[in-house]
Amino acid sequence: MDAPAVPASTSAREPFDAADCCTLSPDFAELKDKLATYLRPDDIERVEAAYHFSADAHAGQFRISGDPYISHPVAVTDIVADWHLDPQALIAALLHDVMEDTHISKQEIAERFGKTAAELVDGLSKLDRIEFRSQEEAQAENFRKMLLAMASDLRVILIKLADRLHNMRTLHCVRPAKRRRIANETLEIYAPIANRLGLNNLYRELQELAFEHKFPLRYKVLSRAIKAARGNRREVVSKVLTAIEERLPQWGISADVKGREKHLFGIYRKMVEKGLSFSQVLDIYGFRVIVRDVPSCYLALGALHSMYKPVPGKFKDYIAIPKANGYQSLHTTLIGPYGTPVEVQVRTAEMHHIAESGVASHWLYKEDEKTLTELQQKTHSWLQSLLELQSTSGGAAEFLEHVKIDLFPGEVYVFTPLGKILSLPKGSTPVDFAYAVHTDIGNRCVACRINGDLMPLRTELRNGDQVEVITAAHANPNPAWLSYVRTGKARAQIRHFLKNAQQEESVALGERLLNQALRPHGLTLGQISAFAWDRFLRDRGVRSKKEVFADIGLGKRLPVIVARRLAQAQDHESGRPNVIKPKPAGAILIRGSEGIAVQLARCCQPIPGDPIIGTIRKGQGLEVHLHDCAAVAKLRGDRGRWVDVEWEVGEDRLFDVTIRVLTKNARGVLARVASAIAEEDCNIQNVSMDNEQGVYTALNLVLQVRDRMHLAHVMRGIRRVPEVVRIGRVKSDGRTT
Ligand code: MN
Repeated sequence: MDAPAVPASTSAREPFDAADCCTLSPDFAELKDKLATYLRPDDIERVEAAYHFSADAHAGQFRISGDPYISHPVAVTDIVADWHLDPQALIAALLHDVMEDTHISKQEIAERFGKTAAELVDGLSKLDRIEFRSQEEAQAENFRKMLLAMASDLRVILIKLADRLHNMRTLHCVRPAKRRRIANETLEIYAPIANRLGLNNLYRELQELAFEHKFPLRYKVLSRAIKAARGNRREVVSKVLTAIEERLPQWGISADVKGREKHLFGIYRKMVEKGLSFSQVLDIYGFRVIVRDVPSCYLALGALHSMYKPVPGKFKDYIAIPKANGYQSLHTTLIGPYGTPVEVQVRTAEMHHIAESGVASHWLYKEDEKTLTELQQKTHSWLQSLLELQSTSGGAAEFLEHVKIDLFPGEVYVFTPLGKILSLPKGSTPVDFAYAVHTDIGNRCVACRINGDLMPLRTELRNGDQVEVITAAHANPNPAWLSYVRTGKARAQIRHFLKNAQQEESVALGERLLNQALRPHGLTLGQISAFAWDRFLRDRGVRSKKEVFADIGLGKRLPVIVARRLAQAQDHESGRPNVIKPKPAGAILIRGSEGIAVQLARCCQPIPGDPIIGTIRKGQGLEVHLHDCAAVAKLRGDRGRWVDVEWEVGEDRLFDVTIRVLTKNARGVLARVASAIAEEDCNIQNVSMDNEQGVYTALNLVLQVRDRMHLAHVMRGIRRVPEVVRIGRVKSDGRTT
């Protein structure tokens, strides 16, 4: 987004000549001429319609420079047109600031200019809303990835880069502090993206402009020094140039030879990184030789090496081993006249084209292409061409993986409340985020805000989301999280926590079960001697009592068997036969809030007051059923696994129970039933309605009650509703009672 219109203060403006201004802000007529070189007339008409739409939308807005705002989108479109992008991209470039600055909706753009253009504009607006603040290098890398990931269509990135380029070209008008920030962002974020995509011209220009605005003084000194040096060295340059131009044809090579201007930022960086003086860096002359085909490249190299001695170790064959962004050339450094180093790049015209415009060279709009919306195809063709280049040098698969990860990452990038960027696997949720921040935050998380809104913990995170986790001191991980977390860390931590928690509960339950099982032997746990325990543990190869309890609680050992063995060991010790009259075992008391080790069966949903029975399930603890549950009837035979249980008095939780209510069809019945339930201080968890059977409707209600008495009150209340015909509790086999 560009700064809002502010009257230009002339004093803040640097000398800026009018001739430049015209080239920076071409009018639409000029742009149209450019479009006519590669677009059909009807496409140009659509682009022109977008121009008028944008001009109307931005009417009355001005840039800080004082120019009408529309000059900016036109300039951006002009840059994009140099890459010969398709009409949708051109339309999007013209409209790229419309959504942010004039409140025109995506919908409206879609209706007028089609879905693709609207998607592109929307993508650009989303990028605009993200701001880069961090100074850390690692964060810059994440931010670059985030931008690439958000722009699911590479055209969005191309237009964004063009937008940035024009803003950089007109940065003089902006006040100095903001200028430095934008220049810095350009160096850290946008220039590297341009480089990665092989857009070398753009990359260089962005760096050059950013350098000028980030370090105005250094830029001025350096450019003055270069101007002076250039005058002195003109003679050497022309001498080398002529020599090369004469030599190549003698070798049968037709070539285009040019002296190469060094970029200020490149010189500056070399000085800083290599600790070189200005004259050491500048003392290098650059030439570029463009030839017809690949064999000519190597031939030309031979010719050059025959003219001047090459500097050992400086030759690089980027034709055989291209750079990751597809750049190809031969680089060599020669020792020229007077011993000055001369750098030469040799490449074909096609390599030159790709070196200048990288990925954009594959987006060239061709009139005969009918399926232009296939952005993946275009991007793919670029990746494919990179792959083909790399395959000659081996390691192609690995390389493609590398580039693909950059462009279509399997990650999402999200912000912490403090603006740090975290990368998580695609599909991650706020729970993954919480564990990524800290294990304690994960274990204690209860809710989250995404971009300021409260959202469910299972929400899938998207690029650029700002995530805030809400924690509670006594909260615990929920086993249900395991069904949607994506990261290994979250999964492992949740499992770890649950296992520990279950271990503790199982020990407590096992202790109670064993105590109960000892009663028929006339013993309690406290009466078992250390001797008897030692003997038992040794015989069974178990390390501790605690392990025995846990095993019982988890159903791995049956309490009746452990009790019998302990009783025998005890008798053995005392040398007396077991003469004590056995007492009935008595029941284990269940509160229903023990946790994972004691589960109320889902099939029959027992509530306090119901006659119940427990069963020990292997590895899963105790499950409590209704006495007359169908599941119990089926398993009656396996005696040893059944445990007598009873409800312990306590009001520490509510219990789910399902009832079915048959009512006459009448307006407002559900509301009357619901208010009858509420009057009895009872919550409704869920309501579903069976298909109407004639004049009746069956309501299935899941209620939360304290106990059987409470349920009875609630049912009595419901029965008082006149339309209610029948009411009953739903049991395991679906029958009601
Ligand atoms: Mn813009």
